[in-house]
Amino acid sequence: MFKGKIKEARICFAHPRVTLKYPFEPLEPPDGFRGRIQVDVEKCIGCGGCGNVCPSRLIRFYDEGDRTRMEFILDRCTYCGRCADVCPEKAVTMTKEFETATDNLEDLYIVQELYMGTCNRCGRCFETENWIDKIPTRRHREGALFVGPAMPHAKPVGEVGG
Ligand code: SF4
Ligand code: SF4
Repeated sequence: MFKGKIKEARICFAHPRVTLKYPFEPLEPPDGFRGRIQVDVEKCIGCGGCGNVCPSRLIRFYDEGDRTRMEFILDRCTYCGRCADVCPEKAVTMTKEFETATDNLEDLYIVQELYMGTCNRCGRCFETENWIDKIPTRRHREGALFVGPAMPHAKPVGEVGG
């Protein structure tokens, strides 16, 4: 048994430290690491693609007048990266931030507002600052702000059936 302990000690002294000095020297995550998401409001066109694919259903859109409020409630985020994959404008990026524990839920909220013009012919939302050929990728506005005569999947307020 004593011999065994000596052998063990020799192995330990012959090898360098393998543990990390975390949190004093945190490890830099490798490229491609999927940490907390970041949203660039300057690039976002409000298409709703990220909200459609999010498996946690944590991305919400609310139309308020000519503005759309987007809410990302990241407490249920699984860091799957689907929102970043589908974003046509590369507005969503996965950062390397992984230390997201907090006792204040608001730290995990991303809330942003976008101006969304509405096309008088088709009812689609679009931002006037963007190229016109991006319009087919935009989502439709439904409800009270519907103005288009040929909106395929919604009816003007008060009209039922379909
Ligand atoms: S990383 Fe996944 S779970 Fe998190 S917001 Fe994006 S799509 Fe949703
Ligand atoms: S997919 Fe990208 S452009 Fe579309 S609403 Fe989400 S963040 Fe904005």
